[in-house]
Amino acid sequence: MRIDILSVVPRLLDSWFGESILQRAQQKGLAEVVVHDLRAYSTDKHKRVDDYAFGGGAGMVMQIEPIDRCISALKAERAYDEVIYMSPDGERLDQPLANRLSTVNNLIILCGHYKGVDERVREHLVTREVSIGDYVLSGGELAAAVLSDSLIRLLPGVLNDETSALSDSFQDGLVAPPVYTRPAEYKGWKVPDVLLSGHEARIEAWRHEQALVRTRERRPDLPGAASETFGEG
Ligand code: SAH
Repeated sequence: MRIDILSVVPRLLDSWFGESILQRAQQKGLAEVVVHDLRAYSTDKHKRVDDYAFGGGAGMVMQIEPIDRCISALKAERAYDEVIYMSPDGERLDQPLANRLSTVNNLIILCGHYKGVDERVREHLVTREVSIGDYVLSGGELAAAVLSDSLIRLLPGVLNDETSALSDSFQDGLVAPPVYTRPAEYKGWKVPDVLLSGHEARIEAWRHEQALVRTRERRPDLPGAASETFGEG
């Protein structure tokens, strides 16, 4: 998967993609993230990318030309499955959407700033708008990093244990069961006996039951909360 991110503050994204799982995914050749500075596509002699809003009002608006020039240059190189604009009024990111988008080959993600982008960008250049939640950030970079991370960790081979992403919260309509590691007892606080039993089927049943209990307590809105009964019957 290749992700091209368009930004007016590209440095904001450096550390995010330069460390840990996302860095390893790129080193293994499973994902490629390329960040583009929109100022490089400005034809203005001061490299401006924004201007005052027509009709007045506070806040600058990102201009269409640098965005169009950048997207056109990318599209001349390869076909893109989606051009996504990160926007608080877009479709809300959730695990099913991340699952679907993780199967595409090439993605452009546009980060807004200031008051956002000229509406004609949204009408003519963007194929999808995604929000990471009902709150407003000062720029789209964090949101683009959230979206990219949620996709890249799903690519086969990115996580060491391939089944790991599948057992995360939301994948089966349930939240994840609790996890423990050594020591088995700390200050008198014990790990549940079943996890130390070595009995795989019992451990699996316990985990499923815990996921179900947690989902019912915390997220009764998820499909898994209603649809299943406890494993061992
Ligand atoms: N005036 C706009 C907000 C602009 S915030 C409005 O009221 O809707 C500046 C930029 O940050 C946006 O263009 C968008 O790219 C990004 N952004 C802010 N909040 C976001 C969110 N919840 N999800 C995705 N992107 C967001």
